[in-house]
Amino acid sequence: MKRKILISACLIGENVKYDGGNNALHVNVIEQWKQEGLLVPLCPEVLGGLSTPRTPCEIVQSTQRVLTQTGEDVTQAFEKGAKESLCIAQEEGVCMAILKARSPSCGKGVVYDGSFTHTNIKGDGFTCKLLQENGIVVFSEEELDLAEAFWKSKG
Ligand code: SF4
Repeated sequence: MKRKILISACLIGENVKYDGGNNALHVNVIEQWKQEGLLVPLCPEVLGGLSTPRTPCEIVQSTQRVLTQTGEDVTQAFEKGAKESLCIAQEEGVCMAILKARSPSCGKGVVYDGSFTHTNIKGDGFTCKLLQENGIVVFSEEELDLAEAFWKSKG
């Protein structure tokens, strides 16, 4: 089976972001991968059952629960979204993922700290963590050069 690249859907212009918008990248390498049929776009938060638009969520560091800005616990939706994302990745033969930085689902290495003040802290989003635990190599959209080099190395 042809190997594929999972990508946060908001990075290729799908309006799945919490505010109903997207984070489209408009870069050549993404466009090329898209044309080659390599991309598997998904939004873990939508897969987890959350609506768009939705109240912003962050991971509370002390409990590792996900709360909305208004205090609702949506951890289960994030766990479901991560599991669904992993299932799709495995079915599609994904070996690499490009995920949106700092998101409580997609963030890699750095996430917001749960205070809704745009403060960063070390940690992974729920989906990023589960994908990595299952052998999928994750890059953020801020590491596209590394992602491209990794993809080329896989030949
Ligand atoms: Fe984008 Fe991921 Fe947030 Fe969905 S969960 S909007 S794919 S960053």
